[in-house]
Amino acid sequence: MKITVLGNNSTTVTQGGACSSYLLEVEGRRILLDMGNGSIFNLKKRVKLHEIDAIILTHHHFDHLSDLFLFRYEREGHKYMGEEVSPIDLYTPEMPQWLQENLMKNDLFRLHVIKGDTKVSMGDLTVAFIEVLHLLETYALRFTHDGKIFTYSADTGVCDGIYEAAREADLFLCEASYGSYEPYRMKHHLHGAEAGEIAEKCGVKKLLLTHLPEENLDGLLQEARAVHEDTEISEILKTYEV
Ligand SMILES: [Zn+2]
Ligand SMILES: [Zn+2]
Repeated sequence: MKITVLGNNSTTVTQGGACSSYLLEVEGRRILLDMGNGSIFNLKKRVKLHEIDAIILTHHHFDHLSDLFLFRYEREGHKYMGEEVSPIDLYTPEMPQWLQENLMKNDLFRLHVIKGDTKVSMGDLTVAFIEVLHLLETYALRFTHDGKIFTYSADTGVCDGIYEAAREADLFLCEASYGSYEPYRMKHHLHGAEAGEIAEKCGVKKLLLTHLPEENLDGLLQEARAVHEDTEISEILKTYEV
């Protein structure tokens, strides 16, 4: 499995940055995990939109889905110009009506609604959707292929689901929205030390931090590394192999 980071900012986009989006390539398949604001520009540096086989939304916050509207709009434009545009598989928690109406018109996506913990197979790739603690219905993604495990935390606080999702992962792409030294605490996000603790307790090999704050990434990295040594800060347009 190859994972390319297309966006790794949390809710605030940095200059030249982008919010959550990752391209997973396996067995010739290309699967997009979330599509936050700014990510479509990075996606286009790697592949063309029609080369995407499936899109997975972990939840419906704008920093994870904004650019899906641009994706849809561009595909729709090609359709109006007379090109053959076949629908792309879209896996998502149940959408509110306004979102479903916007995304699903003109048959640009083939909808697969995720309800509760679910496993989906795509060839030899399996993805487990595991519900985690956030402000609304959200799924961590646990991919298994050829004996390897790649987990993406989505947005989450500390909960049973994220422990289940990260268990013995070879690569754990985990949100770390702030440092433990920050004055506030949020139950629905993780700080760097919590991400490190989950990785360590789950026997994760490599921890890759994402959904990053604007400042003091070094502090974030150091506190996660103090708990789980093999930890890195994710980099936009860098590809990680599992
Ligand atoms: Zn969120
Ligand atoms: Zn988010």
